[in-house]
Amino acid sequence: MPDIAENLSEVLRKIQAACARTSRDQGSVELIAVSKTFPMESVRGAWEAGQLLFGESKLQEAESKIAALPSSLHWHFIGRVQSNKVRRLLQSFEVIHAIDSLKLASYTDEIAGELGLFPKVFLQVNLGDESSKGGFAPSLLRAEMEALLQLKRLEILGLMCIPPAAPDAESARPWFKLLAGMRDSLETEFGVNLPGLSMGMSGDYGVAIEEGATHVRVGSAIFGKRSYRVDEELG
Ligand SMILES: *Cc1c(COP(=O)(O)O)cnc(C)c1O
Repeated sequence: MPDIAENLSEVLRKIQAACARTSRDQGSVELIAVSKTFPMESVRGAWEAGQLLFGESKLQEAESKIAALPSSLHWHFIGRVQSNKVRRLLQSFEVIHAIDSLKLASYTDEIAGELGLFPKVFLQVNLGDESSKGGFAPSLLRAEMEALLQLKRLEILGLMCIPPAAPDAESARPWFKLLAGMRDSLETEFGVNLPGLSMGMSGDYGVAIEEGATHVRVGSAIFGKRSYRVDEELG
């Protein structure tokens, strides 16, 4: 097993450095340790090193980890949401990062009502118009924002993206800028507060923070290489 404690402190150091470069308070960035595909012992290792917030993208895998690990851990769902799993997702996760359509948002709102919950969510934006990925097309999100804001159970924290694969972190910067700009204009146009930006993964979280990320989703930089391709699962 890689040295998770060491990796974790390196990631935290880089987060701190990125915050310092842009005069941001380190407390304004949440590190989500993405433990999908990694075993329970890996999560435990990160927890013992002080990490409390974890991200998972497969419900069943997550449920068994959540049940077996201490209840002081916090869990965010970062994967693609299937509507037949919404009820269970709401019961296990504090935040859902990839609400990707008005239909799914409405359904989530309805189930939240049945469960008596007020879930926190991000709206995923498909910035690169990639058919392999979920998310609102930018123009559609604007068109549907009013209706999304009517869903009284959902607390919309902000926007989330998984930008097109880039050869290096710098190449991802324009996508992060784009998401931050969209957030700013939605706030102005609709008079709402959308404080959250869920963006940045192992290869580019430093750049994402420079562009305003509030939630970075970092897996392999903490837990090591995943043993199988997960690109297909990406939101
Ligand atoms: C797997 C995954 C990540 C983490 O990716 P790494 O490159 O391992 O940091 C982040 N976000 C989403 C949506 C993911 O599925």
